[in-house]
Amino acid sequence: MTTLRLLPLAVAALLAGCVASPALDIPAPVQESAVAAETPTPTPTPESVDPPAFDRTQYSIDSADSIWVVANKTRRLSPKKFVPSDLVTMDVPHTYDPTLRREAAKSYRTMLRAATRDGKSLVVQSAYRSYATQVSVYNGWVNQLGRHGADLQSARPGYSEHQIGLSVDIAAASRACTIQACFSDTPEGKWLTKHAWEYGWVLRYPKGKTNITGYKYEPWHWRYVGIPLAEQIHLIGAKETLEEFWELPAAPDYL
Ligand SMILES: [Zn+2]
Repeated sequence: MTTLRLLPLAVAALLAGCVASPALDIPAPVQESAVAAETPTPTPTPESVDPPAFDRTQYSIDSADSIWVVANKTRRLSPKKFVPSDLVTMDVPHTYDPTLRREAAKSYRTMLRAATRDGKSLVVQSAYRSYATQVSVYNGWVNQLGRHGADLQSARPGYSEHQIGLSVDIAAASRACTIQACFSDTPEGKWLTKHAWEYGWVLRYPKGKTNITGYKYEPWHWRYVGIPLAEQIHLIGAKETLEEFWELPAAPDYL
């Protein structure tokens, strides 16, 4: 859109450049103004589908306190027991402690209001989890599923997106398909798939990307990255994981 609006200006600038021919000290041909006047309006070219301009260097993908940090099985948080400095606990429907970093919390509340307006009832199943909490969560899964099964389901302490305070597991108030793949078929799951990016959230563990992310499909796990990055990932479509978008090595397993 912007490009199209700028086109006439660009043409005018080009014509202005043509008129000034300083090398030849002769009067301009009389027909030149007529030619300029008859210049047809440029035919608009089909609208580009390119996503809006995006500064890939705005934030770090390595610092644990960056909203773009990429944590996975090959990218441990540093420090291992990182604690965000701006955690806030939200007054929203929840199962476990609904705490997130300030910016993510603000966005979640905005998204919750929009979902509620659309008749969807979102519940925070789990949000920020400290290193110590992750120790007990992970060990609980190991006891239930064994180490291999646990690793597909839950991050080891120090590697969890929940520890950075920017991730939230979302459930439906109906409790249908909580923390299950079928959550994607619930009204809440469908709404999130359609709208979460508008509020700066990305689906961190998409379907069919286990060999890249290291985790099975988790339609309930949403990661806040801010609107510009979420919008890029949404519009590009083909690079839906953070690993693909940032061209990082796949992280199917711990090193
Ligand atoms: Zn999660």
